[in-house]
Amino acid sequence: MEEVELEKKKTELKHPFQDSDFDNPFNTCPPAVNDKVIKTADGENHYPALKPGTWVYLTLKSTVTLTDKMASFVFDLPKDTDHTGCFPGQYIAAKSIISGKEHVRYFSPVSPPDEFGVIEIVLRFESHGIMSQYFKALKPGDRMEFQGPCGGFEYTPNQLHELTLLASGAGITPGMQLVRSILKNSADKTNVKLLYFSENYNDILYKEELDKYREQDSRLQVVYTLGEAPEEWEGEEGFISSQMLDKHVAKPSMKKHKVIVP
Ligand SMILES: Cc1cc2nc3c(=O)[nH]c(=O)nc-3n(C[C@H](O)[C@H](O)[C@H](O)COP(=O)(O)OP(=O)(O)OC[C@H]3O[C@@H](n4cnc5c(N)ncnc54)[C@H](O)[C@@H]3O)c2cc1C
Repeated sequence: MEEVELEKKKTELKHPFQDSDFDNPFNTCPPAVNDKVIKTADGENHYPALKPGTWVYLTLKSTVTLTDKMASFVFDLPKDTDHTGCFPGQYIAAKSIISGKEHVRYFSPVSPPDEFGVIEIVLRFESHGIMSQYFKALKPGDRMEFQGPCGGFEYTPNQLHELTLLASGAGITPGMQLVRSILKNSADKTNVKLLYFSENYNDILYKEELDKYREQDSRLQVVYTLGEAPEEWEGEEGFISSQMLDKHVAKPSMKKHKVIVP
């Protein structure tokens, strides 16, 4: 009887989505689905390409080497008018079958949802990583299955006054999608501060793009910090620390502010 009571208590304490949804491991509720039809000024209707629960084949369009360990992969959506179906900040699942065994891994697209017809993923090649080595061998024209959205921080414009993103290495990918989406939308008044750690100068992904944005748009501030800094480096050095957060992250105020570690 005691055991039954204990078991009951354990079940009651559990959040309804805790431990029960492996398609959505870091979210506390099922992902919001961007199933809206986007109508552009030219009268074109844009439908979502990805849907949760359905694997969709996408064809690799192109790859670009970013560093010795990272590359960008652009896949064509089924129609060149499609939007991805993901909110900024969400992630997707990719499936590969290697020697008859199915492998699923998660990726945060860097392309904004309304960049029609394509989805871009940035991948870090792990030396013994099953999926990353599989991606490394892909050639334009190869197909792979994707599914999404799987949750994440589902951003909608003007929810917040300020958004602080703490990113490290390949962890810049969800942050980059948010930055691109916010800056593309002049009606979105959210200020973004990106605190971004990279091992060394050459490992800073998207530096040129980020620098261009912050020069042109006061909504974005970027603080780079490097593990190994060159002599003339004027940015921060070392891992993101509590001192660095004290220095760069806005103090609590009446403003709606969220700090996320994408
Ligand atoms: C929400 C979410 C979003 C993500 N977004 C991205 C993204 O945008 N870009 C990205 O690159 N990644 C992203 N990831 C990580 C990604 O899903 C994979 O985990 C990553 O690509 C590694 O997968 P893999 O199959 O290559 O490595 P796995 O085969 O799963 O191996 C994991 C690690 O173990 C090491 N390993 C394997 N075998 C051994 C061994 N025998 N001894 C010692 N070490 C070993 C590998 O080298 C690797 O470092 C994301 C993950 C999540 C959860």
